[in-house]
Amino acid sequence: MSLDIYEGIKNNLISLEEKIEDTLAKTGRKRDEVRLMGVSKFQSLEVVEHCYKAGLRLFGESRVQEGTEKFKDFRPDDLELHFVGPLQRNKAKKAVSFFDCIQSVDRDSLIEELGALTLERETPLIILLEYHTAEESKSGFKGLDSIFRAAERAIFFPGLKPAGLMTMAPFTENEAEVRTSFRALYEASLELAKRFPGEDWSCLSMGMTSDFKIAIEEGSTLIRIGSAIFGDLKT
Ligand SMILES: *Cc1c(COP(=O)(O)O)cnc(C)c1O
Repeated sequence: MSLDIYEGIKNNLISLEEKIEDTLAKTGRKRDEVRLMGVSKFQSLEVVEHCYKAGLRLFGESRVQEGTEKFKDFRPDDLELHFVGPLQRNKAKKAVSFFDCIQSVDRDSLIEELGALTLERETPLIILLEYHTAEESKSGFKGLDSIFRAAERAIFFPGLKPAGLMTMAPFTENEAEVRTSFRALYEASLELAKRFPGEDWSCLSMGMTSDFKIAIEEGSTLIRIGSAIFGDLKT
């Protein structure tokens, strides 16, 4: 039974890896330029452990309660865990103390909250700013002015370390729209690097199961994959 889960994940990772490498080869990028995250929301700890055994080291969770419950007893030193979902104010404290990075920082009040919660930290909390690149999406900073202001705010707090941007492309079959969305993230990161050259804007978290190839072509450095790793397991 559990061997099946392991085999299933291993096979999924192998075929995903081939697609990632093909896409990178086409665009002239190197494998170490893109990190693969397994988004393990809705998956059991057992499944996560198999995935770790199969070689994956970076995981993402989109709910604080679920993520902390799942990973509280499974946290090998080389496992990295990011928060990628909408973060409510009343969950911020728990998230800050548990996750290695919060990718979905999507509003000024959340930066203030995270900044206040991390004032005493020795090592800053790594965050990504979520940029709004698709009409239908509700979350994220809209437009360059607002992402500039967010960046300024985040940099101001000693306990926060911005490391780049994240986005969700529109859910559409229209490849051009998806590409436009990813390109907007890439371009915003260039603008941020010009405006705040002392900071690190190099992480571009974009691309999921349905659109990671386009994301890689458009400069993604971190793809967040759920279904292509965990989707068809018989658990
Ligand atoms: C669920 C989720 C993913 C992964 O989605 P798939 O389409 O299953 O690969 C990526 N990013 C975020 C923020 C998610 O919530």
